[in-house]
Amino acid sequence: MSKVGSAFQNALKQLDLANNYLKIDQAILKIIRKPQKTLKFLLKFKMDNGKIRIFRSYRVQHDNSRGPYKGGLRFHPNVSLDEVKALAFWMSFKCAVVDIPFGGAKGGIIVNPKKLSLAELEGLTRAYVGKIYPYIGPKKDIPAPDVGTNPQIMKWFLDEYSRIRGKLSPASITGKPIEIGGSEGREIATGFGGAIVLKELTKKLKLIPDKTTIAIQGLGNVGYHAASSLDKMGFKIVALSDSKGAIFSQDKKLNPEEVLKYKKQTGSVLGFAQTKKISNQDLLELPVDVLVPAALENQITKENAPKIKAKVILELANGPTTPEADQILAQRKIEVIPDILANAGGVTVSYFEWLQNLKNEHWTLNRVLEKLKEKMTKAFEEVDCFAQEYQVNYRTAAYILATKRIAEAIKIRGE
Ligand code: NAD
Repeated sequence: MSKVGSAFQNALKQLDLANNYLKIDQAILKIIRKPQKTLKFLLKFKMDNGKIRIFRSYRVQHDNSRGPYKGGLRFHPNVSLDEVKALAFWMSFKCAVVDIPFGGAKGGIIVNPKKLSLAELEGLTRAYVGKIYPYIGPKKDIPAPDVGTNPQIMKWFLDEYSRIRGKLSPASITGKPIEIGGSEGREIATGFGGAIVLKELTKKLKLIPDKTTIAIQGLGNVGYHAASSLDKMGFKIVALSDSKGAIFSQDKKLNPEEVLKYKKQTGSVLGFAQTKKISNQDLLELPVDVLVPAALENQITKENAPKIKAKVILELANGPTTPEADQILAQRKIEVIPDILANAGGVTVSYFEWLQNLKNEHWTLNRVLEKLKEKMTKAFEEVDCFAQEYQVNYRTAAYILATKRIAEAIKIRGE
């Protein structure tokens, strides 16, 4: 549990807020508030030094009324059941906002993957599959990468699952390397999808891209591809960061490709030419038009929310804003594009990957990005419509839209 409270309780607060406007049936609400299945496994396997170690792991299946469960697998020392429950819950809502036929799930192993050798990581992944395999499958529950996991781990996952089942089953996991059934565009999907949504909002707010300044926290998979997509769309990236700190360029816009190249050479963004070193906290409070948290949860809190100067926040990380901070941002009329909409590009391309695997097809990058653009634009328009209809902010509108879709599916299945 984080110091800002239970992530799962925070997720439920967002549902309650939306339900103030919907007043859905209490029995259905009760179903949505509880994960359908919580699996806990102890994974036992031999480390390189011959010693046996035990790792705690989870898979939470939140809801499958709209389709098979879908959600990533996280390898991180801070994984907790509370966090996995929240992430599974958010996956159900995310899939419902972009209207893809999946429910929500999430998995996690309490481990620091940076401290394991490649062979140990493989052993741990295979040990997890050995426990989880009866509960997953292309029409049941489809895992994917998340923080601390990657296409290589998905490859081991698929290999072990196919070995146990006695048949190759590429649609049982997404985020695979392209050579074994992964989709073009999966790597850039979350950042690119977020950029599409921001572009739609800035059109509505009549902000001109080359006059719109942006600060991005985190230059990982999501942050980098968002920076690169926004830069290509003509926006002005002026601040970027990683875990070591942030850089700010007052006079000239930053080129994300060059900053990433510099980070790869030196290990950090700090020291990049003609930039000022600032802290990650300072980055959040910069006088920019758009702030993009793309690193960790709980970054925008009741302490810093009153000091944020951006007009728009694009939540690419999962859960970067605490509910208390959210209230402050709403009072200050700062537009927040919520995580369940802003970062849904990743799961959308995972859905495309699953579809390609089921049909034994391979789509071109252009086709994937065009279809992603269509999905993200439609989802933004629908959330915008709900925001106007109910006179609420985008987060509540996205939750109203998703809750309606999930509740309807539960109701129809129960009839
Ligand atoms: P990543 O591990 O590739 O990148 C994380 C980045 O955050 C790195 O640049 C790291 O240096 C930086 N970072 C770490 N600690 C930091 C700190 N204290 N302050 C500032 N920066 C810090 O992870 P990612 O895949 O880019 O995921 C980032 C966020 O986006 C997570 O919240 C994840 O759950 C969410 N997300 C990811 C995807 C996806 O497709 N990868 C999809 C939806 C949501």
